[in-house]
Amino acid sequence: MPVKGWVEVDPFYCKGCDLCVNACPQDVLAIDMDQLTSKGYHPAYLKEDACTGCEICALVCPEAAITVYREVPIRSDRRKVVKAGN
Ligand code: SF4
Ligand code: SF4
Repeated sequence: MPVKGWVEVDPFYCKGCDLCVNACPQDVLAIDMDQLTSKGYHPAYLKEDACTGCEICALVCPEAAITVYREVPIRSDRRKVVKAGN
């Protein structure tokens, strides 16, 4: 079973710099041109359901705006969600 992950981008901190979009090996991040943050930036968002939870986006983000979550197996038939890096 492939590792499933997803990310949350905090719009308060995201400045739409594109670094995470370019760094993602799965190409699942994009800049949302339809949204504006309270500071006037277009924020990044998860555009596709193929994130592996690798954390590269969080590591390159200069604003620490990204939280990564990952499903991990707890038995052969069950998984739980953990915050990556914990
Ligand atoms: S790297 Fe961080 S600040 Fe830049 S677009 Fe991505 S989430 Fe926003
Ligand atoms: S955790 Fe990895 S796969 Fe998921 S969005 Fe970030 S860089 Fe892409």
